[in-house]
Amino acid sequence: MSAKKRIINISIRLGVILSLFMITVVVSTLSAGYPPAKYLYTNESFDWEFTPEYNETQFNIVFDHHSHTLYSDGHLTVEQNILWHLAHGFNAITISDHNTMDNAEEIAVMAEKYKDDIIFVPGFEWTTGRIHMNLIGITEYIPVPSNKPTDEEIIAAIDATHNQGGVVIVDHIPWSLPRMPTHPTRAQLLAWGVDYIEMVNEDVYDIDSESWCNNTGGFGQITGTDMHDPMDVSGWTLMSADNLTTAGIMKELLLRNTTIIYDSHGSTDYSIGTINPVYQIFKPVVHTGYYFFNDDVTGGFVDWQSFGVAISYVIVGFGIFEGVKIGIEKIGDRRKLKKENNSYQEYDD
Ligand SMILES: [Zn+2]
Ligand SMILES: [Zn+2]
Repeated sequence: MSAKKRIINISIRLGVILSLFMITVVVSTLSAGYPPAKYLYTNESFDWEFTPEYNETQFNIVFDHHSHTLYSDGHLTVEQNILWHLAHGFNAITISDHNTMDNAEEIAVMAEKYKDDIIFVPGFEWTTGRIHMNLIGITEYIPVPSNKPTDEEIIAAIDATHNQGGVVIVDHIPWSLPRMPTHPTRAQLLAWGVDYIEMVNEDVYDIDSESWCNNTGGFGQITGTDMHDPMDVSGWTLMSADNLTTAGIMKELLLRNTTIIYDSHGSTDYSIGTINPVYQIFKPVVHTGYYFFNDDVTGGFVDWQSFGVAISYVIVGFGIFEGVKIGIEKIGDRRKLKKENNSYQEYDD
């Protein structure tokens, strides 16, 4: 084979391999970023009842300002979300999907169906790469200008919430700070008019914020389950409202009349869930994608260091393969030549 032909053939093979590699990276990383739900809760009844320990004569509202549904990245329907909250002892909630209030119509239907059991405060999670804030007690959606809003844009969202009579809660500071280097400080947030710090998110108690508030004051305290899939609950927010309505709850929230309960052991979740067959099929792809996926909200979608290492493996592997292949061909050619020489000798004899 001529050297030129060999180079063309090797280039074509390298092109094919790199294309397959790139397809693998793109498909798997997207699968890891937007994975199918691991469990389905289609047949879940949420038929247990947990009551957190508190003075029931003092408080009549048990509130969760923070949870998700299928309208964003949660895996329960609005109705399942409600039943889950009832099972864990809540009687008032905000369903705070990420950057959408498209759930409002369905929530209105459910609010009617469950009017004797649960009270709704409308709102959503204003989700960006700099900060997550729950804007609640609002009826109009407040747009998210970009993934990296300026200080002024964050302040505008806080003001817009107040103009609608709502309150602003800064979510999960312990989760955000390591991921968001430009997250506003607590002092900035206080100056900008933020009303609450989410002191409990999932099972994490924000002890740094507690210490900060003890020294500085200024913020109200609230708990959020941030439920995406059924889970144990560690935080409940108590209020004593004059009347059991959305307005009654908003009145207390605006006055910052909240008392929080934290229980590190939490309430047990008895949901079972069945493995999603779609997840099972995509599992190898999703897990490959975890290698390339960059969970860091500020760093972008792809972990370029992992990408660099993986593509080096592919190129070095390809080089070794081609080298061995050429070596084997050379040995074959030499043997053939020897054989031919031998046969000429035989002929000569
Ligand atoms: Zn969040
Ligand atoms: Zn959330």
